[in-house]
Amino acid sequence: MTVKTIPHFLDGEESNGVGERTQPVFNPATGEQTGELRLADAADLETAVAAARKAAESWNDISLAKRTGVLFRFRELVASHIDELAELVTAEHGKVISDAKGEIGRGLEVVEFACGIPQLLKGAYSDQASTGIDVFSYRQPVGVVAGITPFNFPVMVPLWMAPVAIATGNAFILKPSERDPSASMLLARLWAEAGLPAGVFQVLHGGKETVDGLLTHPDVDAVSFVGSTPIARYVQETATAHGKRVQALGGAKNHAIILPDADLDNAADHLAAAAFGSAGERCMAISVAVAVGDAADALVGKVAERAEAVKVAEGTDPGAEMGPVITAASRDRMKGIVTDAAAAGARLVVDGREFTVAGKEGGNWFGPTVIDNVGTDMGAYTEEIFGPVLSVVRVETVEEAIELINSNPYGNGTAIFTSSGSNARKFHRGVHVGMIGVNVPIPVPVAYHSFGGWKNSLFGDKHIYGEEGVAFYTRAKVVTQRWPEPTHASGASYNFPSN
Ligand code: NAD
Repeated sequence: MTVKTIPHFLDGEESNGVGERTQPVFNPATGEQTGELRLADAADLETAVAAARKAAESWNDISLAKRTGVLFRFRELVASHIDELAELVTAEHGKVISDAKGEIGRGLEVVEFACGIPQLLKGAYSDQASTGIDVFSYRQPVGVVAGITPFNFPVMVPLWMAPVAIATGNAFILKPSERDPSASMLLARLWAEAGLPAGVFQVLHGGKETVDGLLTHPDVDAVSFVGSTPIARYVQETATAHGKRVQALGGAKNHAIILPDADLDNAADHLAAAAFGSAGERCMAISVAVAVGDAADALVGKVAERAEAVKVAEGTDPGAEMGPVITAASRDRMKGIVTDAAAAGARLVVDGREFTVAGKEGGNWFGPTVIDNVGTDMGAYTEEIFGPVLSVVRVETVEEAIELINSNPYGNGTAIFTSSGSNARKFHRGVHVGMIGVNVPIPVPVAYHSFGGWKNSLFGDKHIYGEEGVAFYTRAKVVTQRWPEPTHASGASYNFPSN
């Protein structure tokens, strides 16, 4: 297998930079190294930030008509390269091709939203606010935005950020996950082909050092981060201490509650898809099923049947429904959590710990796993497993289920399965969670509503994309203006101006 070098994309072109360090990239389905990623050093970071600063100044002066022209072309290019993008995602992330195409589709929604940016930047005008005085407000870009993204959505998450940041007139530096960086390189080439000027979208690879450099650089104005909770908290604290605006989306432990009046076959289908799709490596995956009252026994049986039937294979296999997990270390961590839960008295209904794919034993395999009677003190409940493991917790009432969700430190997503409108209403009004599904297991908001969790799932006050995204990447200006008649002289007044 040939190992390709993965360069940065700096100031309009691919570049190996001057940093000498590199890091291997693997195919999780085989364990083989497929790439060698160039890592930025301090000089590469300076190059990227300087190019971004320069590009931001002129890009903001380009007309809205020309800017949206670039976005429309980019939309077409991403759509016409969906196969190539999906193959890159599957080769480095491991998810199945159809799922990779799904994430690209959700990313495209945000590009389409950004194509309508003139409507959102119209501002507001108050004629004759005081005699002879008009007041108007409009928004301007913050300048240079850094986007730091996780491994689990190598196309969608960068597209949650960049289209909105760029449409609003900023320059954007993407620091993608080191585990699956190739898709972001294709995105950079497509932006350039769409006519985006050099320096407006750049890709800078690296780990902690590069992130720290971006969080503290005086010429970076805003940081959008998506990743795990400890790093999200650190990013928010560090970057705000350096005067930047920050939105940092963190981890999750998403509960779905299933009431006895739900259609249990439908709920089991959705639960299995939300727990095992993308090998559970979604921040909106359902990792806890809260079975209420009589729902539990039947539900566990139905979910177990589905878990056993999931076709786990390399993501390029046309029949595959679930691929490997990202690293061997992550697989081993999951094994430990499941083993500990069983030792603490939980019931392993479906056990994926020893699963492997014949002929691909070097891959990071972990089969769908269902654990019943999970206690809230067990690691299977308290930790974000980020793998294909569904923990079932049993409670007696809907109120108890809501209380359980609210005592969890995360608040990203949650769902209820029921046929009762009043219980659904009690649930969505009562839970301290940002994104809620009613008979919808993975309620990722469409692009014109913003995405964001509560509590330890979001640090900062603005959600990502949608109108909150536009607000995050821009600053408001209010102009109060008077155009006196040439002959009019009112004389100086030393009082505070009032109406
Ligand atoms: P991660 O936190 O390990 O990495 C995210 C980014 O931070 C990467 O670009 C990485 O290079 C960088 N990073 C890692 N360690 C760092 C450090 N010590 N200092 C500075 N930067 C560092 O997350 P991951 O494993 O790539 O992604 C999975 C996590 O992301 C899960 O917790 C998942 O829930 C979360 N996630 C959240 C959302 C959301 O919208 N809330 C969406 C997707 C993923």
